[in-house]
Amino acid sequence: MPFPNPFDLEGNWYRTNLHTHSTGSDGWMAPDKVAAAYRRAGYQVLAITDHGVVTDATALSAEGFLTVPGIEFHLGQPEVGGLYHVVAVGAEQAPPPGVELQAAVHALVEAGAFVFVAHPYWSGLTCADLISFDGYHAIEVHNTVCEFIARGQSMVHWDDLLTRGRAVCGVAVDDCHHGYDDIHLGWLMVKSPSLTRAAILGALRAGAYYATNGPVIESVRVQEGQVAVACSPVRRISLIAAPGLGANRMAAEGGSLTTATLPVHAGSNYARVQVIDHVGRMAWTQPVVWR
Ligand SMILES: [Zn+2]
Ligand SMILES: [Zn+2]
Repeated sequence: MPFPNPFDLEGNWYRTNLHTHSTGSDGWMAPDKVAAAYRRAGYQVLAITDHGVVTDATALSAEGFLTVPGIEFHLGQPEVGGLYHVVAVGAEQAPPPGVELQAAVHALVEAGAFVFVAHPYWSGLTCADLISFDGYHAIEVHNTVCEFIARGQSMVHWDDLLTRGRAVCGVAVDDCHHGYDDIHLGWLMVKSPSLTRAAILGALRAGAYYATNGPVIESVRVQEGQVAVACSPVRRISLIAAPGLGANRMAAEGGSLTTATLPVHAGSNYARVQVIDHVGRMAWTQPVVWR
């Protein structure tokens, strides 16, 4: 199993946003204002990831609030669309000029960064683009600012990678630029033994988190042939698996679901939990079954 089940791990949950811009690039708020906005909203972890430059916001850490340096860089040649956008959290410097995408990703992973491909759907990335290089830990399954043009969610890309046996995670992020209409609408709940940079980066690299833009997942128990889920009230609880497999529970008309027990199909190489509430907000676990 490439990922731990965070609901089985000791530690605390930390609300985390890993993709944010500041006046260090094209964001509207200075780094200290960005940090204050996330801290006020009850987040414990924030990475400021400006375009092409590391904005070191380490000094903005405070009691119960950790800022981690990071970067969003743009490289390579997808089949259609523009460049690949890649976020590296924990990166201390930008990739050197002229480096190839694959070499940049490998070097950052080697240096201990948590690396993910930003907004595949918004970028027009194809599944072939995503399998053309490797080493990244995750892709963005939800990006708040990309929802402005309804291209913020990339479940199809993620499931294509998982079906092919690529063990990558899904992250939800704000990609906050403005700070009023694109903030606090996509985040991770990270399970970590402590709130230090080393512990949080370790939990991120391991996949010890779930992603959400609203619903709370309270527990996921993987038992013999089935997965039991408990969550905040939602309309649908699903186990997403290989094509044609998986399982789904819908609330009755006008009602809600807070638990479901779903069968794991023997023929699927993976299964992950996904819920959707009455206004379309979602949460996503990492694969809880992997074969
Ligand atoms: Zn981007
Ligand atoms: Zn961005």
